[in-house]
Amino acid sequence: MGVEGERGQRVRYICEACQRVIEEMEVAESGLASLDLAFLTPEDREAIIKVDREKKLLLVSSLCDGCIAALVGGGGEE
Ligand SMILES: [Zn+2]
Repeated sequence: MGVEGERGQRVRYICEACQRVIEEMEVAESGLASLDLAFLTPEDREAIIKVDREKKLLLVSSLCDGCIAALVGGGGEE
């Protein structure tokens, strides 16, 4: 309800480790289902997706390349 005109939904991916904005894009509402969020359970979804209703923004917790590299890098040196 209350959704008029604009069909787009802004989605902002934020690194949950360093809080950096990884990516921001606008997707059609119908496109939301095609995001890689579809496989998530509703509970997982609520855990990683925050809705900013005022800004009409979808905040998705993720990991940036740097933090992923640090995680999978094993040693963590440099
Ligand atoms: Zn990060």
